[in-house]
Amino acid sequence: MTEAPLTDESTVRIALVVPDLLGTYGDRGNALVLAQRLRWRGYRAEIVTVLSSAESLPESCDIYLLGGGEDVAQQAAVSFLRRGNGLRRAVDSGTAVLGVCGGLQVLGTRFTTGDGKHHAGLGLVDIETRPGADRAIGELGTRSELPGIGVLTGFENHLGRSEVGDDARPLGRVLHGTGNGADGVEGGVTGRVVCTYLHGPVLARNPALADTVLSWAVGAPLDGLPDFPELERLRAERTRVRG
Ligand code: GLN
Repeated sequence: MTEAPLTDESTVRIALVVPDLLGTYGDRGNALVLAQRLRWRGYRAEIVTVLSSAESLPESCDIYLLGGGEDVAQQAAVSFLRRGNGLRRAVDSGTAVLGVCGGLQVLGTRFTTGDGKHHAGLGLVDIETRPGADRAIGELGTRSELPGIGVLTGFENHLGRSEVGDDARPLGRVLHGTGNGADGVEGGVTGRVVCTYLHGPVLARNPALADTVLSWAVGAPLDGLPDFPELERLRAERTRVRG
């Protein structure tokens, strides 16, 4: 856990974790959004890109981001992240983590790929994934169960269907689209590990979720920033069209 709130003189370090393996659909944009929302508020922000060729994961970052990826890349990401176990230590000390799609499955307890093979995940969030009958592709809208967020929108493209276990809670309830494909819910949250099937990138389309992750990282409430009217229009349009 962040010992004392970071001040606006602190540099907040945002780790983009193995984007060479997990980075489909522009998930790198989540790092850019977090860095920019910090800078607008007077914080310094640094994006630390950790490729899978790195020796291990640096443990000094304040936020870790995992994007989406294909099944084989997910297995390679698990192998990399097991080495040294730095992500587990970071999570145990309360560091914020966002996992998107393949990142959700990697952070979960176990995922079964389309070929029927079982793979252990990192077990940092209590979610298990099995293949569905078909890919879930298209716009996804949910109502978040985290306080102060409201409706989340994005794009989903995944085969896996994910079940949230007793030690996690869903990120949201599905309004339209598939989401986890079980129990009408989407994503999962354990402590400060938040996972979702929403691409977009998700934090560009949903600044309230970005600010939730940032407030966990800096350990203090954040100043408000102006809304983007175009995002509100997009949200309203997606909810109306699909809801
Ligand atoms: N490989 C995973 C699946 O198909 C995740 C895909 C993704 O990250 N877009 O379920």
